[in-house]
Amino acid sequence: MTQVYNFSSGPAMLPVEVLRRAEQELCNWHGLGTSVMEISHRSKEFIAVAEQSEQDLRDLLKVPANYKVLFCHGGARAQFAALPLNLLGDHTTADYIDGGYWAHSAILEAKKYCEPKAIDVKTTVDGLNGIKPMKEWQLSDNAAYVHYCPNETIDGVAIDEMPDFGDKVVIGDYSSTILSRPIDVSRFGMIYAGAQKNIGPAGLTLVIVRDDLLGKARREVPSILDYTVLAENGSMFNTPPTFAWYLSGLVFKWLKEQGGLVEMQKRNQAKAELLYSTIDKSDFYRSQVALANRSWMNVPFQLADPALDKVFLSEAEAIGLQALKGHRVVGGMRASIYNAMPLIGVKTLTDFMVDFERRHG
Ligand code: PMP
Repeated sequence: MTQVYNFSSGPAMLPVEVLRRAEQELCNWHGLGTSVMEISHRSKEFIAVAEQSEQDLRDLLKVPANYKVLFCHGGARAQFAALPLNLLGDHTTADYIDGGYWAHSAILEAKKYCEPKAIDVKTTVDGLNGIKPMKEWQLSDNAAYVHYCPNETIDGVAIDEMPDFGDKVVIGDYSSTILSRPIDVSRFGMIYAGAQKNIGPAGLTLVIVRDDLLGKARREVPSILDYTVLAENGSMFNTPPTFAWYLSGLVFKWLKEQGGLVEMQKRNQAKAELLYSTIDKSDFYRSQVALANRSWMNVPFQLADPALDKVFLSEAEAIGLQALKGHRVVGGMRASIYNAMPLIGVKTLTDFMVDFERRHG
């Protein structure tokens, strides 16, 4: 069978070692004679999975002790609603940095619960899509928090600068970049991420929230979105997505074995540089994203002649390079190269791109 490299933006590729391990222990997990997804979430065996995975995640991200880690349902979009419901307190407004598709989607959801102030930080640099530096963000004085998305999965635009806004509560939608490099969690009031890109299977969402922000939820917040309720119940107020939790725990172990986030940063940088340099070297391919904001995780690129898009995709597919079609709002191609994508996968793609250009350019 052809070796497949899956460039899907999410659900996305998982480390093969993790999948093999899950396969080996699927029917007889830890000698119990059942799979891990068939046992009670309150059994001592599953509680051990839950505790260990939380500890591994804390170690990887160096999460300070005054932060709760919650394993939630509902994807990142549930957090778009949970955020204002939990964190507005007495405020009626919050700042929302509008930097791309997902940041904008968070604003639309927040409008149901407050009057978000949308702050457009998009700019163009040499005709390319970029983001204004943080010092130019015009934040308000009366906002409960400031929300932004450091990696726009669709636009391929990243904000790598770490926030430094004094005592403002900063919230980051880390869905497509969590665990891809070290970050300073203490700069944030909360970060959250849907699992299906850089963590594990869909169905699980991570919330890491500073404990002084708990206890402010509105009365009408659904209990399963109430951070205080989730924290008090060890993320088991209702039945959590146990299989996704277990598999994410295996990914955390794998990340530790690989050398943690410093090593991931090196690998992700090398992969991204290889792909962007291939794009930049040719007039046949182009990136619309300004140099300072190029994502290491999601790399959209265009063919100079869009009439070749279909041929590119079908030839790529034929040699095992899957899911390269760009999102409909951007068009062209997109290669998502999360932690589980090995350098050889990106090398196979760039070799194909060079060869495709030679034949069709
Ligand atoms: N935020 C970002 C940055 C995303 O990439 C996505 C999904 N692609 C979402 C939010 C929405 O996530 P979910 O589908 O898990 O609700």
